[in-house]
Amino acid sequence: MKALVLEKMYSLSMKDVPIPDCPEGWALVKVISVSVCGSDFHSFKGGNALLTYPRIMGHEVCGIIESINGNSESFSIGDKVILMPYLSCGHCKACKKGKTNCCSSLSVYGVHREGAMAEFYAAPLDHLIKVAPDMSSHVAALIEPLAISTHAVSRGEIKIGDVVLVVGAGPIGIGAALMARIDGATVLVSDTNEARRRYAMDAFGFEHVLDPLDPAYASQILLLTSEEGPDVIIDSTGNNRSMENDVNFLSNGGRMVFVGISNKPIALDGTQFHKRETELFDSRAAKLQDFEKVIRCIESGKLDPLKMVTHRAVFSESKEAFVQWNELGGDVFKAVIDMTEKK
Ligand SMILES: [Zn+2]
Ligand SMILES: [Zn+2]
Repeated sequence: MKALVLEKMYSLSMKDVPIPDCPEGWALVKVISVSVCGSDFHSFKGGNALLTYPRIMGHEVCGIIESINGNSESFSIGDKVILMPYLSCGHCKACKKGKTNCCSSLSVYGVHREGAMAEFYAAPLDHLIKVAPDMSSHVAALIEPLAISTHAVSRGEIKIGDVVLVVGAGPIGIGAALMARIDGATVLVSDTNEARRRYAMDAFGFEHVLDPLDPAYASQILLLTSEEGPDVIIDSTGNNRSMENDVNFLSNGGRMVFVGISNKPIALDGTQFHKRETELFDSRAAKLQDFEKVIRCIESGKLDPLKMVTHRAVFSESKEAFVQWNELGGDVFKAVIDMTEKK
């Protein structure tokens, strides 16, 4: 099969590789659409310490079951499916607590194991989720990143009427902002990138979109939160300085959720952290219930992931497209690769 292989930093090649093994209880899935994650660009630039080369990236994927090894009551050949792209061991402390999303030996598609920027991928049946046959393959591919956002929102334990500040208006941040709004929160969004701020307003209808570099940032937040600060701050930037700064804006008794990863130390002001009795949570990957919630919101019309897609390419041109998207940076909100030309 053809696969887009990341040979080493900044080096992609379209190659013939063997079709992946499909052990018992697994399915072989033919890829229809795969969307590109910020983490794929990060890997391309050599920023992912967990990734080893060569690697087929891609974990946000919609496909069709090509074959199943064994019997299954729940799945049939031809089913349209998405992937929960994190394999857990089932017996570590985290797994025993039901926190399979942070298994101590988590194996993520496109990072620790071969991903879905290829004609086929293989996965255990219990990591596949069936979607409606008529769901757009772009919408389906975007369920995974939206599940990541949904998991972050669930960590925030948002209540109706809460004011939530989402820092970072990329796909994960906007997903969190959308899910928090669906949950009944008033949402403020901030990003240092002007294109992203404009997109948050124009495409997703957020009214309160702020620039953290604006000298008036702190006073704007106070003005929008009855001078008290947000109940919950969700930081999706992965930027340690942003994460350090969040506590200064949080309301007393508030909660912070970090959904981005910083590879640098995060130094919080101890006094500010203490004064608020800050609750600080990390959010890693997503669980089945997060995927299910996203699907419910799409099916009920509350969520329209297609607004996220700004760039697309067919698989045969994906190598060049990926390099170009990487150069465009923040102007690419979400890019999708289609295995065949779409009408
Ligand atoms: Zn991702
Ligand atoms: Zn485990």
